[in-house]
Amino acid sequence: MYDVCIIGAGVTGSSIARELSRYDLKTVVVEKGMDVCEGTSKANSGIVHAGFDAEPGTVKAKLNREGNERMGKLAEELDFSFRRNGSLVICEEESGLKTLEKLLENGKKNGVKDMKIISGDEARAKEPNLSKNVIAALDVPMGGIVCPFELTTALAENACVNGVEFAFDNEVKDIKKSNGCYKVITSKREIEAKVVINAAGVYADKIHAMVSTTPMHITARRGQYCLYDKQTGKMVERTIFQLPTKMGKGVLFTPTVHGNLLIGPTAEDIEDKEGTNTTAEGLDYDRMKAAESVENMPAGRMMITSFSGLRAHEDGDDFIIREAEDAENFIDVAGIESPGLSCAPVMGEYVANIVLPKLNPAKKADFVEKREGIKHINSLPVEEREKLIAENPAYSVIVCRCEMITEGEILDAIHRPLGAKTLDGIKRRTRAGMGRCQAGFCTPRTMELISKELGIPMEEILKSGRDSHVL
Ligand SMILES: Cc1cc2nc3c(=O)[nH]c(=O)nc-3n(C[C@H](O)[C@H](O)[C@H](O)COP(=O)(O)OP(=O)(O)OC[C@H]3O[C@@H](n4cnc5c(N)ncnc54)[C@H](O)[C@@H]3O)c2cc1C
Repeated sequence: MYDVCIIGAGVTGSSIARELSRYDLKTVVVEKGMDVCEGTSKANSGIVHAGFDAEPGTVKAKLNREGNERMGKLAEELDFSFRRNGSLVICEEESGLKTLEKLLENGKKNGVKDMKIISGDEARAKEPNLSKNVIAALDVPMGGIVCPFELTTALAENACVNGVEFAFDNEVKDIKKSNGCYKVITSKREIEAKVVINAAGVYADKIHAMVSTTPMHITARRGQYCLYDKQTGKMVERTIFQLPTKMGKGVLFTPTVHGNLLIGPTAEDIEDKEGTNTTAEGLDYDRMKAAESVENMPAGRMMITSFSGLRAHEDGDDFIIREAEDAENFIDVAGIESPGLSCAPVMGEYVANIVLPKLNPAKKADFVEKREGIKHINSLPVEEREKLIAENPAYSVIVCRCEMITEGEILDAIHRPLGAKTLDGIKRRTRAGMGRCQAGFCTPRTMELISKELGIPMEEILKSGRDSHVL
């Protein structure tokens, strides 16, 4: 019998798992994918929003501002990439000035620090590539960027080190009440737990409906992106937002924490909760809108890939984090659309405050708070590189030429707690395959390493999902 069963190993489930792992609890995370970060947490803008968008008084607004403020400390504890690069919300027409002022007011009410409205010229002095049509901008120094894969993996890995079990490739098919607890029935096993936490992203309404008759409806709101070569990553330092619409924050133009340039997303309500394809129209829209933010859009040939993610938009437009009215000990953490990533540093604590009074566990004396990430040899000073290579020559063998990722890093990704078992697992942990050639060169060698280290025949190695065989 588990104390807690968390459904979903995205950034939300992983943040909750990490927080609960501070306590003497038997916790399992059940995930239908083969790894952590297989849902929306892998496909978003990677922005640590400052917290000026959300309506004051909402759960979203509270967790966003607090999460933003705590991201730096969490990045230090768990060793993932985060930079407070600041953001600008630009306005190109007189009619937009009111919206800019409303955002400033919202931000102040939400407690966001140091924001101010600046003129177009002041904005261009900060960001020389900004469009000459910009007449004013909201300057937000608290905005940041984070690697969503590293953040999610770091939270999950740390939870695992502190005793949380992860059950991958287990799709929850049904949940039954049995003898005062819940029986979570997955594609592979049955799990009994006193408390169930529903962190299933776009599927949270389906999971909710397994135990509750209260209405919940989540729309998959797709956002498509274009990712550009690192040669373009310095076009802007800050994240450039356009004025928000009722569908979201609009198309942004941002450096990523690893130095690429990202533009997007679209905002399209779709029926298919698996509809993460991109479309020619969507990508054209991104480029057309982004061209309004800057002078000299990068050439199309600089785009290295496209992707899309699904926002879990709940009809009430706020996060739903509470015990279901008609299902005691079943906690919904639903409607976690943007800024769900930004909230990760405090999401776990918020949910734990609901769960802990039910179970009254003791705090662990031996909780391991810190985690050391994978060492990326290319970003180390020469002396440190040489030392690492002397200790382990695998760090001198380059596997991914675009991102300069070595065999040593890939071996670390495979063998560390909650290690990678798929090509995408390696890619998200190390960046092998994320560069200009998009895994054209490194795939065979990475597969050989997975095969040798984990004893998996080459024909059985997966890209990510269960039927994604490469050979
Ligand atoms: C286009 C876009 C842009 C965004 N930009 C930002 C941003 O810049 N900043 C920001 O803060 N936030 C952003 N977000 C929001 C952020 O990405 C999400 O809030 C966050 O990733 C949600 O995490 P999650 O863990 O709740 O959901 P997910 O990551 O989707 O995790 C849910 C997990 O549940 C699993 N699951 C589902 N059903 C089952 C089942 N039956 N059995 C077992 N497992 C199941 C899924 O496989 C998945 O792994 C953006 C989102 C989108 C789509």
